[in-house]
Amino acid sequence: MALSPVGALLIAALLLAVEVGLKGYPHSSFAAFGAKSPSANVDAFYMFLYASNLKNSLGLMISFGIGHLIHHWIVVHCSLGILANANFFVSLAALAIVNTFLFYWVHRIMHSPLFWPVHKVHHSATEMNLITNFRNHPVNITIEVVLYATSTAVLGGSFAVSISYYILNGIYQLLAHSNFSWDLRHTHFAFIQNWLLLAPEEHRLHHSQAEPHWHKNFGVVPIWDRIFGTWQECEQNEALILACLICETKPCWPHFRVYGK
Ligand SMILES: [Zn+2]
Ligand SMILES: [Zn+2]
Repeated sequence: MALSPVGALLIAALLLAVEVGLKGYPHSSFAAFGAKSPSANVDAFYMFLYASNLKNSLGLMISFGIGHLIHHWIVVHCSLGILANANFFVSLAALAIVNTFLFYWVHRIMHSPLFWPVHKVHHSATEMNLITNFRNHPVNITIEVVLYATSTAVLGGSFAVSISYYILNGIYQLLAHSNFSWDLRHTHFAFIQNWLLLAPEEHRLHHSQAEPHWHKNFGVVPIWDRIFGTWQECEQNEALILACLICETKPCWPHFRVYGK
């Protein structure tokens, strides 16, 4: 299972309101819509596709349902039920470790020449705001939905654990694209930002056009990028030019292979 479009939209609406409240309307994602930003209007279009569930249907059709067949096969033959009787917080932590690891590698593979034509849709925004998170190719969405559904089914976590994880993950994915900014690196909470939860600037760097930023910060949590050598620190208040059309001009496979060095 994954968070339904209604759930994701409610979370997005809530975070948009919080952003207006904390940063003020002129500096919020709302201010970007309308005539001000063609990029934000495209984001709104992708949000509509997501909200109407058209994206899921399109993804299913374009991929010929292959992902769902693989999901079905794995669930039937590989369900382990490890978390069936586990404590809520242990289950939540286990699901987070497995899903963030899978997300990291799937995202990294999406930067390979085979999948870049699909994933570059997400990288085509020239400005970022909270709902840029919804700017995704239908096949990209299908891959993520199938992936998360598979890990949940294989581990055997409860409904409460799954829904809690998807809500927290949904909030964090939206925040990573938001106009919020924070820097805990020089505080007592540095460990959280360094290893557990990246700041929006650090995901914005993933969308940057500058070559040193290509193929960096793939994860929702920094730990996998640090372990697999793709972490890139973000300078405080670093100005980033977005729209990372990297593979239009240069094949990205050599960068993908950096792990093998
Ligand atoms: Zn990417
Ligand atoms: Zn992104």
